[in-house]
Amino acid sequence: MSQDVFDETDNFPEIRAAVARLCADFPGEYWRQLDRDAAYPTDFVAALTQAGYLAALIPETYGGAGLSLSAAAAILEEIQRAGANGAACHAQMYIMGSLLRHGSEAQKAQYLPQIASGSLRLQAFGVTEPTSGSDTTSITTFAEKRDDHYVVNGQKVWTSRAAQSDLMLLLARTTAKDKVVKRTDGLSVFLVDMKEALKSGMTIRPIRAMINHSTTEVFFDNVIVPAENLIGEEGKGFRYILSGMNAERILIAAECIGDAKWFIAKATAYANERRVFGRPIGQNQGIQFPIARAYAQMRAAELMVQRAAQMFEAGRDCGAEANMAKMLAAEASWAAAEACLQTHGGFGFAEEYDIERKFRETRLYQVAPVSTNLILSHLAEHVLGLPRSY
Ligand SMILES: Cc1cc2nc3c(=O)[nH]c(=O)nc-3n(C[C@H](O)[C@H](O)[C@H](O)COP(=O)(O)OP(=O)(O)OC[C@H]3O[C@@H](n4cnc5c(N)ncnc54)[C@H](O)[C@@H]3O)c2cc1C
Repeated sequence: MSQDVFDETDNFPEIRAAVARLCADFPGEYWRQLDRDAAYPTDFVAALTQAGYLAALIPETYGGAGLSLSAAAAILEEIQRAGANGAACHAQMYIMGSLLRHGSEAQKAQYLPQIASGSLRLQAFGVTEPTSGSDTTSITTFAEKRDDHYVVNGQKVWTSRAAQSDLMLLLARTTAKDKVVKRTDGLSVFLVDMKEALKSGMTIRPIRAMINHSTTEVFFDNVIVPAENLIGEEGKGFRYILSGMNAERILIAAECIGDAKWFIAKATAYANERRVFGRPIGQNQGIQFPIARAYAQMRAAELMVQRAAQMFEAGRDCGAEANMAKMLAAEASWAAAEACLQTHGGFGFAEEYDIERKFRETRLYQVAPVSTNLILSHLAEHVLGLPRSY
C-alpha cells in the first residue's frame, strides 16, 4: 500500500513527519506495558512538551507555537496513526482555549507562558458529574462567593488526568438552576490550582476503566478557590466552555482519523501477508470490503474534520460541523477497528499486535466527550429545526 493513499501533500507534511519520528521512540511495547500497569505515559508526554507540540495553539506572544487548529489536528492525528495515544495529553492543547479567549490579560500573562513551557500542566477538565450526565446544565457542584474567594462543594466524575495536572478547568454553578431564567446561565468557569485544592478539601480517586486513561472522580469539600481564578464573568461560563468544546471535538475527530489510518494500514498489511487455503486472505472480497468501506468512511470523515477546523479558524459558528466531524470520525475509526480485528482473526486478540488495545481505546470516542445520540439530537434540533426532545 503506498503512503499517499493516506496523505495529502499540502496538509502539514513537515509537522506530520516530525511527529512520526518522535512517536517512533515509543513503540507498541511501551504502550502495552503502560496498559498492563494502568500507568501514565510520562516520558511520551515530556517528549511532546519538549518538542512544543502541546503548546501548538498558544499564541507566540505567550511562548507557544501559535499554530492553527488544523495544524494541531495534524499533530494529534499523526500520534494516533503511529499507534500511540494522545489522550494522555490532548486536553493540554485545547482546554487553555477558554483561558485564552475569555481570561483576563493578567490571567493569560500569569498562566499561558508556564503552560506553553510545560512547567504548569493544564490537563484536567471538570465538567461531567455522576447525577447530571450529558445534561450539563443540571450539574450541582456549587461555587459560593465569600469575600475574595469561592467555596466549592460537589463532585465530578470521569475527570481525566486530574492526578497529572497542576490546574483544572472547573465548571460549577454559581447560581442554582431554579433561580436562573435560562438554564445555561448561572454556570461559571474556574482555574483550580490542584496542589492548593488538595490541601483544602479536594480528593481525587482513580477509576479503573476499560482503557488506560488516567481518569478519576474528584470530590470538593469546602474547597477554597480565590476569586481571581474565575474566568471571565460569573454566570457566563457555559458559553465559554462551548467554544472550547468545538475545538475539543475537532481535535478528537482528528485522533479518530489517525486511529482509522492505523487500523486500515495494519489490516491491509496483514490481509496481504496472511495465507490461508493457499492464498492471501486479502484476495477474498469478504476480507477486502470491510477494509475498503472503512477507508471510504475515513476519507469522508476527514473532509468534515478539515471543514470544521477551517470554520473554527475563520471564527465562524462551527458547532454542527465540529459535532458531525466527531461523530463521523468516531464511527469511521470504529469501522476500521472492527475490520482490522476481524481480518486478524485470533491474532487480533493477542496483546502483542496492539489491535485489542487500540480497539478498546478508539471505542471511547462514540461516548466521550459527547455521545452520538447527543450529537444527533443537536443536529435534529438546531440544524433541522425539529422539536426539542429534552
Ligand atoms: C474514559 C472517559 C474519560 C472521560 N473524560 C472526561 C473528562 O476529562 N472530563 C469530563 O468532564 N468528562 C469526561 N468524560 C465523561 C464523558 O464526557 C461522558 O461519559 C459523556 O459525555 C456521556 O455522559 P454520561 O456518561 O453521563 O452518559 P449519560 O448522559 O448518562 O447517557 C447514557 C447514554 O444515554 C444516552 N442519552 C442520554 N440522554 C439521551 C437523550 N435525551 N436522547 C437519547 N439518548 C440519550 C447517551 O447518548 C448515552 O449513550 C469521560 C468519560 C470516559 C468514559
